[in-house]
Amino acid sequence: MASKKICVFPGDGIGPEVMREALAVLRTVETVSGGRRFETEEALVGGASYEAHGTPMTPDALALAKASDALLLGAVGGPKWDVLPFDLRPERGLLGLRRELGLFANLRPAVVFAPLIDASPLRRELVEGIDLMVVRELTGGIYFGEPRGESVIDGVETGINTEIYTRPEIERVARVAFDLARKRTRRVTSVDKFNVLESSVLWHRVVSEVGAKEYPDVELSHMLVDNCAMQLIRNPRQFDVMVTTNLFGDILTDEASMITGSIGMLPSASIGGKVGLYEPIHGSAPDIAGKGVANPLAMVLSVAMMLKYSFDMPVEAAWIEKAVARVLADGYRTGDIYREGEGKKVGTTEMGDRVRDAVQKTSLER
Ligand code: NAD
Repeated sequence: MASKKICVFPGDGIGPEVMREALAVLRTVETVSGGRRFETEEALVGGASYEAHGTPMTPDALALAKASDALLLGAVGGPKWDVLPFDLRPERGLLGLRRELGLFANLRPAVVFAPLIDASPLRRELVEGIDLMVVRELTGGIYFGEPRGESVIDGVETGINTEIYTRPEIERVARVAFDLARKRTRRVTSVDKFNVLESSVLWHRVVSEVGAKEYPDVELSHMLVDNCAMQLIRNPRQFDVMVTTNLFGDILTDEASMITGSIGMLPSASIGGKVGLYEPIHGSAPDIAGKGVANPLAMVLSVAMMLKYSFDMPVEAAWIEKAVARVLADGYRTGDIYREGEGKKVGTTEMGDRVRDAVQKTSLER
């Protein structure tokens, strides 16, 4: 079987710490599967790239990414670089990467692992069995729209951003959501703000049309984003696949992550182009960077998503997912998911070790 080439961007803060564990888990999968080989090559992005090259993404790093079969990314950013001009900030490197690679759909699953039910701030009966998938539009909307910038207009300091969506941008992300729904419970909730935003009026109409014409077998409902933020807390189990804009998806997925217990648990996949990008939804967590306490499970589960979506290896992806469930069931917890008196508190490295052991065990249960 031909080897797969993975471009690895460890990034900033806890990025390199969680990436180390995720890559070690990948090597374990490689060993126990005895089939596919993975070649990895590291490159810099974000603050790390700025420090080395004066820019958050170099043309060489971008070329390497484009020539790969998949990308893994830790996280970028940190207070050190917040003072830089916008175009030099770490987050610009990541946004540029997503856009250059045409990664227009961001898949963010929020799954509650049974042993973590009590780590959720919501009551057990609200979160039990949650398994939802948010599809966030990733290369359009207010994060990219022009005009943008800060200026002084008529003597008044003014900050400007523009929410803009075109029909093709909405159609393609809607199709990703409907296709996913066909593999799940055939239900999609489209989230917008069509009562006040024209871009949402178009969003609402186009998603409805794609649904009616191409996916009549999928049940589509619409929800206003403010109501959705409330419903995610009131009754999160009502949702299966959700599809929404870049900005709304950014906010709602952080909310959904807390329902599941911790932002340190949630992976994501960015797809749409030739090469998929897999990263945790959390940031670089500067407050805990370098302390060896970060939860590596979101990064580890991002590797599972890569195996599933880029390499068509669902069996191996399931080994990792089951291994994570097993480690949690055995009581191992990093600080973010630990509750006093329950389970064993471990650091980043030990959590990675436990997952690797569990991958070996789950792979034998074929
Ligand atoms: P964050 O996700 O980095 O951290 C939020 C809180 O969650 C912190 O208390 C942190 O300690 C905790 N946390 C996050 N991941 C964790 C993990 N794996 N284990 C344990 N605890 C974890 O968000 P922030 O503090 O708003 O942002 C920090 C930096 O990260 C900023 O520069 C921001 O721009 C950047 N950021 C980058 C990405 C990305 O690279 N995709 C995403 C979000 C934020």
